[in-house]
Amino acid sequence: MSYKLFIPGPIAVSEKTLRAMGQPMIGHRSTDFVDLYNSLQPDLQTLMGTKDPVYLSTSSAWGAMEGSLRNVVQKKVLTCMNGAFSDKWNDVALRDDKQATALTFEWGQPVDPDAVRRELAKGGYDAITIIHNETSCGCMSDLVALMKVVREFPEVISIIDTVSSFSAMPIPKDELGIDVFITGSQKALAMPPGLSLLSVSKRALDRAAQTSGRGYYFDFVEFQKNHENGMTPSTPTISHIYALQSKLEDIRAEGIPARHARHARLNKMVRDHVLAKGFKMFPKDGYGSITLNCFANTLNYDLGALNKTLKSKHQLVIDGGYGKLKGKTFRISNMGDETGATMAAMLNSFDAALAETPKAAV
Ligand SMILES: *Cc1c(COP(=O)(O)O)cnc(C)c1O
Repeated sequence: MSYKLFIPGPIAVSEKTLRAMGQPMIGHRSTDFVDLYNSLQPDLQTLMGTKDPVYLSTSSAWGAMEGSLRNVVQKKVLTCMNGAFSDKWNDVALRDDKQATALTFEWGQPVDPDAVRRELAKGGYDAITIIHNETSCGCMSDLVALMKVVREFPEVISIIDTVSSFSAMPIPKDELGIDVFITGSQKALAMPPGLSLLSVSKRALDRAAQTSGRGYYFDFVEFQKNHENGMTPSTPTISHIYALQSKLEDIRAEGIPARHARHARLNKMVRDHVLAKGFKMFPKDGYGSITLNCFANTLNYDLGALNKTLKSKHQLVIDGGYGKLKGKTFRISNMGDETGATMAAMLNSFDAALAETPKAAV
């Protein structure tokens, strides 16, 4: 049975993208591959707002997220935590035997720039991790304000996860001074999972060259050396790279500003519709994500039953709450290739399914 994903990743992948993935293999050391790799750089650099190379990592985002810690942290990393993914990043740092200090906020609260400044001012830090858009609770922090603070501490390398916001809004890497910019394929890029993109500043690359224990697979120095020859360190997921080529064509055809505006418009469309039914937003006012909405289940519907109906009668699924928020929140994605028409159809289904959903037992 096939059904459409409105969970915040993985999301629906277009026929065009799937067809692109089905192209015949080429050798990853062939001139065909070098041409393909090099041809993607200008569009990727434009989307990221950077002059630095964009490395292609055959891994989900976590590979690059863990690898970045191993490349740049020599002393201590400040891990900003306000949801499931950012909480886990602290755990990953500790598993890598890195010194990591947790700067924690309630799920749904943004990372507070003043708190970051107070903590970094204590000294001893050489890196910071921030998740721009905490997908688990639909909370988007103010990256412009945060990076302004981080730039006050030149010894601190910034590692920024834009996994679920990349390509849905401007995130100008060089202008903001982001050192390590990480994103994944299965969120707003609307590709299957398995590829991550990574852009690293010169100073982060210099730091990596001086850092021991960075391993091989995610070694920035290896990525850079291979990049200079239009290649990746090991055999990449060539099918995903074809998909990326196809997606970049789509983005060029739509235009980046139009793509950003579409995400903002569809996001507001879902928010207005669901709030009008009497639900409330889960994240703090003004810090809702642009690629999904996380609603508090204030009307106490049985979200499991709702999703069952959506799947069986309407061939779509939403998310019924991440981790400890299961049953308490629900999330609806508006990222990727959605349009006014597809989101309107989705909301019609939502209304119909909700009308036959019981309230949860209290
Ligand atoms: C999905 C997601 C990740 C994890 O990506 P994987 O593909 O599972 O490695 C990390 N950060 C954010 C913000 C995400 O939304």
